[in-house]
Amino acid sequence: MLELNLGPATLSPVILIEDDAWTLIDTGMPGSAPALLELAKQAGIGDRPLRAILLTHQDIDHIGGLPGILSASEAAPLVYAHPDDEGAINGTAPMIKMTPERLSGFLQQVPESVRLQFEETFLRPSRPNVNRTFADGELLPIGGGLTVIHTPGHTPGHVSLYHHASKTLILGDASVARDGELKGPNPPVTPDMELALESLKKLSEIDIAQAVCYHGGLVREGVQAQLARLSERS
Ligand SMILES: [Zn+2]
Repeated sequence: MLELNLGPATLSPVILIEDDAWTLIDTGMPGSAPALLELAKQAGIGDRPLRAILLTHQDIDHIGGLPGILSASEAAPLVYAHPDDEGAINGTAPMIKMTPERLSGFLQQVPESVRLQFEETFLRPSRPNVNRTFADGELLPIGGGLTVIHTPGHTPGHVSLYHHASKTLILGDASVARDGELKGPNPPVTPDMELALESLKKLSEIDIAQAVCYHGGLVREGVQAQLARLSERS
């Protein structure tokens, strides 16, 4: 788990390092790529190529660093997303939480080069950004086995990822955490709360040693019980 400190917020992208390649789960904000790649270096990727980028969902703080990561990678990594969020990431469907006004307001705050790169990648891409789609229950041959769990609610195509060898559940934004405790989906940015809670229920049935929330980091204690309790709230 990386700790990508962006001033007002710290994000927790996850990397998996194997003998011959590494994999990245979520990419930070527009402009985050250099800092994220520096953290990955410190974590020991060495000169391995980046094999795959797994996007848990379409939100800007998860896909924003994609253009910078791709342009820094010599080998073209596979880019995975769920079919229900694929269109938003490819620029063929609207991003569900981003009106054009909100997006342009946001892009005014980033350096010109980052804004142009973002617009070229997501608003008028020359080819699809996503070149592999996740299926619910699919076992990816990454990190010795990583299962995809479709966990809609926060977005329609949100996925969580389960790393079998370490029993680690990568939650994306299915739940946030604070001080090592799960807090559930963040209501203002979770359009379908009922579905998001159903997703937590599904996750509570997995044998989990630890979880990583993109917002709030690592949770080590009683993850399954916390997920079950949160899923009953409505
Ligand atoms: Zn997020």
